[in-house]
Amino acid sequence: MKLRNTAAAAAVVLALAATATACGKSGSPDDKGDKSSDGASAPSGLTYKVNTSADVKDSSVFAKVKGKTITIGTKADQPGLGYENPGTKKRSGFDVEIARMIAADLGFDEGHIKFVTVPSEARETQIASGGVDLYVGTYTINDERKKQVGFGGPYYIAGQDLLVKADSSIKGPDDLKGKKVCSATGSTPLKRIKEEKYGVAEAKAQQGYQLCVQDLVNGSIDAVTTDDSILKGYAAENKGALKVVGNPFSKEPYGVGLKKDDAALREAVNKALEAHVKNGDWKKAYDATLGKSGAAAPNPPAVERY
Ligand code: GLU
Repeated sequence: MKLRNTAAAAAVVLALAATATACGKSGSPDDKGDKSSDGASAPSGLTYKVNTSADVKDSSVFAKVKGKTITIGTKADQPGLGYENPGTKKRSGFDVEIARMIAADLGFDEGHIKFVTVPSEARETQIASGGVDLYVGTYTINDERKKQVGFGGPYYIAGQDLLVKADSSIKGPDDLKGKKVCSATGSTPLKRIKEEKYGVAEAKAQQGYQLCVQDLVNGSIDAVTTDDSILKGYAAENKGALKVVGNPFSKEPYGVGLKKDDAALREAVNKALEAHVKNGDWKKAYDATLGKSGAAAPNPPAVERY
């Protein structure tokens, strides 16, 4: 689906929020299930020092939100990254932590951050229209997107991978010929997997990855494809039933989406990321979220100033 206007984008945001609420039951701390996924989906308990004298001169977005509330877009159905517990409505994950760190440096305490759920396909429209002031949600920086939005970061590098049933013989993208694969509308993995060389029989587009995981569990598709960081969260929720192939075939540098021309805000975000890498918050946040799935913290990437 192509979004032609803000109203359509807003409708998608609401629709996905409803979907996430309806389907996001597994992995919540209320579940009696697998403890490892509970860990990754639990709020981190980390706090970040709020800079009460923050100012970002020459930022039109900051001027609009200063002393008020900052609206940050993220995902709600990606455990370990951007997850909203459907019962408690609490948000958790590495992306949520990164968003909270940046917000603190910009002067916003917990009570003045409004998180909204925005699916992959609505990100550019929501950022450009001012529906969100920042976006932190497994958002790959690339030149095509830079035509519409700006990016701080990167703050993490993921790679496209595959999630399959535990007994599947698929070992990498070369085994996808004639297979049915699912990914999210408006994502880089969906676009890539449609390339002729992979020869997939069907590239199914869903509103979010949790819906693809359901398709995989019920057997209507053969693989879910997106970033390994995202897929590991679903594998942890479905231990013994699903596995990540572990053969990444792209580089997905995660950026903080913001208004294209707001260079001052972009620099403030970059400075915040650098400061929280330096003071150890970045690693603590990783260990409390993505790190729960077992992988040691990688070295944080250097921010790119462009
Ligand atoms: N990182 C990829 C992207 O930005 C996939 C994850 C997502 O859809 O958020 O398209």
